[in-house]
Amino acid sequence: MSFIKSTILGFPRMGSDRQLKKLVEGYWAGKVTEAELAEGSKKLRAEHWALQASYGLTEVPVGDFSYYDHVLDAAFAVGIIPERYQQVDNSGTLAYFAMSRGLQNKSINVDVPSLEMKKWFDTNYHYMVPEIADDQTFALHSTKVVDELKEAKALGYAARPVILGPVSLLTLSKTAKGSSSKPISHLTKLIPVYVELLGQLAAAGAEWVQIDEPILALDLDTAVFEPAFSQVYAEFSKVSGLKYLLTSYFDRLGSNLSWAAALPVHGIHLDLVRGASDVDAALEKIPADKVISAGLINGRNIWKANLEKQLAILQKIIDARKAAAPVWVNSSCSLLHSPHSLKPEVGHLDDEMLGWLSFAEEKIEEVAILAAAAVNRSAVDAKLKTNAEKVASRQTSERITRPAVQQRLASLDKTFYERKVPFTERQKLQRAALKLPLFPTTTIGSFPQTAEVRKARAQFRKGALSEREYKEFLDSETRKCIEWQDEIGLDVLVHGEFERTDMVEFFGEHLEGFIFTKKGWVQSYGSRCVKPPVIFGDVSRPHAMTVDVARFSQDCSKNKPVKGMLTGPVTILQWSFVRDDQPRSQTAGQIALAIRDEVVDLEAAGIKVIQVDEPAIREGLPLRKADYEAYLKWSVDVFRLATTGVNNETQIHTHFCYSDFNEIFTAIKSLDADVITIENSKSDLKLLGALEVHGYAAEIGPGLYDIHSPRVPSVEEMAARFAALQKYIPAENLWANPDCGLKTRGWAEVKESLTNLVSVAVAARKSH
Ligand code: GLN
Ligand code: ZN
Repeated sequence: MSFIKSTILGFPRMGSDRQLKKLVEGYWAGKVTEAELAEGSKKLRAEHWALQASYGLTEVPVGDFSYYDHVLDAAFAVGIIPERYQQVDNSGTLAYFAMSRGLQNKSINVDVPSLEMKKWFDTNYHYMVPEIADDQTFALHSTKVVDELKEAKALGYAARPVILGPVSLLTLSKTAKGSSSKPISHLTKLIPVYVELLGQLAAAGAEWVQIDEPILALDLDTAVFEPAFSQVYAEFSKVSGLKYLLTSYFDRLGSNLSWAAALPVHGIHLDLVRGASDVDAALEKIPADKVISAGLINGRNIWKANLEKQLAILQKIIDARKAAAPVWVNSSCSLLHSPHSLKPEVGHLDDEMLGWLSFAEEKIEEVAILAAAAVNRSAVDAKLKTNAEKVASRQTSERITRPAVQQRLASLDKTFYERKVPFTERQKLQRAALKLPLFPTTTIGSFPQTAEVRKARAQFRKGALSEREYKEFLDSETRKCIEWQDEIGLDVLVHGEFERTDMVEFFGEHLEGFIFTKKGWVQSYGSRCVKPPVIFGDVSRPHAMTVDVARFSQDCSKNKPVKGMLTGPVTILQWSFVRDDQPRSQTAGQIALAIRDEVVDLEAAGIKVIQVDEPAIREGLPLRKADYEAYLKWSVDVFRLATTGVNNETQIHTHFCYSDFNEIFTAIKSLDADVITIENSKSDLKLLGALEVHGYAAEIGPGLYDIHSPRVPSVEEMAARFAALQKYIPAENLWANPDCGLKTRGWAEVKESLTNLVSVAVAARKSH
C-alpha cells in the first residue's frame, strides 16, 4: 500500500539549542556575518530534514524555515516591501530585518520602525503584518523556497515546498497608511507572481507544493472568498507538472469545506485534532481522486498522542477512500508551536512524566508509527503497545487526578461567582474605606527589572546568594520602590514584582499540577522564544504565594494602599501547555479556586486593593464566532470565581493589554471588576469608540502612555489624552495610569514619565 505518505506540515526553526536565535541576534549585533548566518541556517535545515528522515517520514517540507517569520517571507518573496524599507539596502537582508524589527542607522541615514506585529490566529506566535498600498505592485523578489528545495534535493530528500497562499497572505495583510483599497482587491495582480514562483519550483523538480491557506479555518464571506480561491487555483492548475496540497489548520473547515473541496487542487489537508468534526463531511465532499492529508498528530500541544484512537480515524478514512486516492498521515498543523525535542528533558523530568510527553521530534515518530501501522500493524505492534501503556498511565495516575480538587470545584454554588452587592453600592463603601482623591493615580504592577535585579536572581539560583541575602535584596528594592511612589504622589502603590521573572511562571512554580521543562522553547516572534509551563494535573495551592510580600509592602507605606498583584486564571491557562484530558474550562476553574484562596488571604492580611491581571482573555477567543459564547461564558465565570470571595470594601482591579475589545465588551462588563486598567495610548483612542457604543459603568484607567518605548511622554501630551478621556468617562470613574507594567523600562525614564503622569492628574483635579 504505497499510497500512505508520512510527513509534517512544518518543523520548528530555532534548532535543538536555539541556534537560530544565536545566529540571528549575532548578525544583528554585527558579530555574525551574513555568510555565516546563511551557512549556519543551512546546517540547521539539513539537521531538521535528517531528523525527519531518521524516523522514516517519506517526505519533508521545505520553505518552512525562516530567519524571522514566514508571513514576512511570503510578502518579501512577492515584493510587498513598503518604500521606506526599499531605501535601506535595495531590499536585501538588511531591508528584511528592517521590516522585522526596525532599523536605526545613522551612518546610512535610516530610521524606520518595524512592520506591525500580530498574533498568528489563536497561537502565541506573532507574524509581521504586510502593508498593501493602493498602487501596490508585485514582483518575484526572492527565490528562498526554490533554493531550499534544491538544497533538500541535493541532500537526497523527497521534498515538498511550503508556501503561504495568496488569499491568506492578502487577508492577513493590512491597508497601508494613506491608502484605502482592501488588500484582497489586489489578488488579480498578485496571482501571476505566484505562478512564476510555482514555475520555478516545477523547474527545480517539485512534484507536490503545499499551499497554506489557514484563513479557511475562519468564518469567511463565501461571496468574496469562493470566487477568490477559484480564480487562484484555476490559474495555478495551468502550471504543468505540479500537484497542490491545500492546507488549513487550527479549526474546522466547517462551512468552507463544501466549496474548498471542489477547488482544482490535488489534495486537501484536514486538521483532525481541532477540526475533528470535519471528517464525515470531508469524506463525502472531497472528490474520490483527491489526496486526503490526515492531520492526526497535534502540533499545538505537548502530550503523547493516543495512537490507537488516531489510527481508528485514519483507518476510517482509508476504508472510505477504497484505495482510489492516496492518504497522507500528517501533523495537524506545523510543529512550529511545539518545542524541539524531549531529549534535553531526560534527567530533568522524571520517567513517568517523560512517558506522557511528546515534542516535535517525538511527534515525527508518532506520524511515522501511524503511517506504518496503516500499512502493516504487526510491524509496529510493540510501539503501539508502549504508546497505549503510557497513554493509559496518564489517564489513571494519582498525580493527575486529585479527588479533593475535583470535588471542590464541582460543589460550588452560584454565590461563589457573585460579589455580595452590586458595583454601585460597593463603590460607595470603597470610597469611604480608601479615601482616594478624584482621578486616582496608579501603575500596572512591575517596575524596572534592572540588570542588578536579574543578577541577584541568577546568583540566588546558582547558590551564590543565600535565601536570606536574596530576600533582603528584594525587600530593599521593594521598599525603595514603594517609598519613591509615595514621594512623587501616586495614590495606589505597587510592590514592583521584583521577585517575578514572568507573571505566569511565578504562579506556576507555587501551584501543584504544574511542571517546568528545561528546554521546552517555542518561538513567540522573531528570535524570541517562550518556555510555557506544563499544566499536567489538577491544580491546587499548597500555600499562600504572595501574602508575605504583600504584607511587607503594605508596611512600607504609611497611609496609601498597596495593591496585591495576581495573574488571572485565563491568562495562566492561555500561556501554558494545558492538559487535554478534561475541558480547558475545568482546568481554568481549578486555577481560579487557587487564585481565589490567595485573594481571600490577601484581604485577611489587610490588603485593600487586589489586582488580578487578565491580559490574555482576548487572545483566547476562538476562531469561529459560533464558539465565542461558550468561551466568554466560562472565562468570565472563572474570573469571577477568582475574585468574588472578598468583602464589599475590597477593591478588585483587573488589567488588559489591548484596546480592541469590541467583540468582548459585554464579557468585560460581566467580569464585575471595580476598576479596569487598559492599554490605550497606541490605539488612536479606539477604546473610546467602544466605550461610546457599549458604555461602561465601573471605574476605568485607560493608559496615558506607551510603555514599550523608552520615550518620556510630556505633561502636555498626556494632559490632552486625559482631557479626551474625560469626555467619555465620568470624572468620578476615571483613573490615571500607564498602558502596562514597567518591567522592560529603565528607572530614569520611569521616574520622569510617572512624575509627569502625577502632575497631569493633580492639574486635572484642580481644574475640575
Ligand atoms: N502586572 C503585570 C506587570 O505590570 C501585568 C503585565 C501584563 O499585563 N502583561 O508587569
Ligand atoms: Zn499589560
